[in-house]
Amino acid sequence: MSNSLQTQVKEFCTAAAQPFSYNAIKNVYIWFGIFWGLPIPVVTISLHYLFLSTTGNDTPLASVFATPLQWFFLLHPLLFGTLFGILGSVRKEKDRQVARLIEELQILSIRDPLTGLSNRRDFAHAFADELARISRKEASLSLIFLDLDHFKRVNDSHGHHVGDEVLKATASHLHSCCRPYDTAARWGGEEFVILLPNTDELEAASFAERIRLSLQEGINPTILFPVTISIGVAQYRHGEPLEILVERADQALYVAKQNGRNQVVRWSSIALAA
Ligand code: GH3
Ligand code: MG
Ligand code: MG
Repeated sequence: MSNSLQTQVKEFCTAAAQPFSYNAIKNVYIWFGIFWGLPIPVVTISLHYLFLSTTGNDTPLASVFATPLQWFFLLHPLLFGTLFGILGSVRKEKDRQVARLIEELQILSIRDPLTGLSNRRDFAHAFADELARISRKEASLSLIFLDLDHFKRVNDSHGHHVGDEVLKATASHLHSCCRPYDTAARWGGEEFVILLPNTDELEAASFAERIRLSLQEGINPTILFPVTISIGVAQYRHGEPLEILVERADQALYVAKQNGRNQVVRWSSIALAA
């Protein structure tokens, strides 16, 4: 407990002065403490008056404050209020910690820990949101599937740590290329996907080409060797699930790899050829 007793008493006084504008949970605790301690002075004063009246003495109110013990009894609401205020602070702090943990868990559940991009789960949510949106109005939607070329060699020649740095730099570059309403995600390993709303296959391919060229030019001065990427592009067809759309983009990516890597291939171009 980091708060000092002085702070607790101060908080108690503030709460007592502004019962409804202070921290709600703590107020409940403080007022519970006050009402818990209230019977003690009430009983003390009543007994005091009862005793004095039976002895026939005149009973001025000040006489109930005559001894330290009486003061102690009379101050019980304040003591209990402060004590429960401290419990309220602890509860408030615990609630804050739980809220922070929940927030961290929520972020962990939708983000890839290495790159900070969306993970598959978040990407699937983004896809579902887009489907809901385009079902209301005719709009195109495309997906690009990106895979770093010969990434195993990067790990083998420069070490896994450098490989991680390349993944992070690539992710950050992809994120910076996206529009605010695009969703970039790490699909797994050295594979990324980007969902492009209001974009047809040709537009998505030219976006992919810009990414490919910029990556080839170098994205980070600390990465001193060339990094290239192969990209498959597919446009959403009405009613198809995410898995099929990804599968078609992956087929185009496969062709890009077969054709020598470091290039963009559209799914419709291979479908046409087939
Ligand atoms: P290709 O051009 O055909 O895609 O070849 P590639 O070497 O990129 O593909 P391959 O599937 O053979 O190897 C992928 C490599 O990616 C192997 C794996 O060690 C590496 N990898 C996957 N995830 C991570 C990661 O999180 N960090 C690092 N450093 N490497 C990873
Ligand atoms: Mg791969
Ligand atoms: Mg690869």
